[in-house]
Amino acid sequence: MPIYEYECQSCRRIISRLILKKEKKKEVQCAFCGGNRLTRVLSPFVLHKTESQRLQDFDTHTPQPNNFYSDRRNIGLWAKKRAKELGADLGAGFEEVVEKARTARTPEDLNL
Ligand SMILES: [Zn+2]
Repeated sequence: MPIYEYECQSCRRIISRLILKKEKKKEVQCAFCGGNRLTRVLSPFVLHKTESQRLQDFDTHTPQPNNFYSDRRNIGLWAKKRAKELGADLGAGFEEVVEKARTARTPEDLNL
């Protein structure tokens, strides 16, 4: 069964949905805000990778394609990978900052 990923146009979160045969695309709702304006995320190269796989595959010395950060799950990867390479500790708050950056719609949402 296919798993599709959608970006909610209301809250900009990415949701994954297992699409059952009878279910129609328009019936898919955002799990976070209940919004129904969802755009299919087409990112075959990064689909179904775990965060640790993304980190492993991420090369900090190679420029990323222009659309790389349109997949918000890639936000923060560079910093995480570099920190790992340098043996630096980003601190406990870093995950939270990355999560905010991935879901923020406006700079104000970051509230850093
Ligand atoms: Zn939403």
